[in-house]
Amino acid sequence: MPVSGLPPYDENNIFARILRKEIPSKTVYEDEWALAFHDIAPQAPVHVLVIPKGKYCSFADFSAAASPEEIAGFIRAVGKVAHDLGLEAPGYRLLFNMGTHGGQEVPHLHVHLFGGRSLGRMIPDR
Ligand code: AMP
Repeated sequence: MPVSGLPPYDENNIFARILRKEIPSKTVYEDEWALAFHDIAPQAPVHVLVIPKGKYCSFADFSAAASPEEIAGFIRAVGKVAHDLGLEAPGYRLLFNMGTHGGQEVPHLHVHLFGGRSLGRMIPDR
C-alpha cells in the first residue's frame, strides 16, 4: 500500500528487475530481507547498494509502511555487509537519497554504502 502523497511502486524499476534476476548485478550479499550489490558507477573504492526485498519506493515509504521485521532485517543486512567487507575499523558512510532534492534516481529504496578511503565532508561544496 503506497504511502499517501507518494507515487505507487513501479514494478519495472531497475532494482525490481535486479531482484527478479532479469538483469545481472554483482551480488555482495543476499538473505530473506535484502540484496546487496556493487553500484554500476562507483563513486568510492567500495560503493555497494543495499536494497530491501519488499516493494518500497523510498525511505519515506519504507520507514512508514515496512513491518518491524522488514526494517530489522534490512538494517541488519546493511551492518553485516559493511562488517563482511572489512569496513568497520576504517569506517564507512551510509547514504539514502530521497526524492527530488535528495537526488533519488531509482524508485526502489536503497542505501549507498561507501568506503575504502577517507570520504571527506558529508555534503561537498558545489
Ligand atoms: P540514487 O541516485 O540514490 O537513486 O542512486 C541510484 C544508483 O543506482 C546510482 O549510484 C547508479 O549508479 C546505480 N545504478 C543504476 N543502475 C544500476 C545497475 N544496473 N546496477 C548497479 N547499480 C546501478
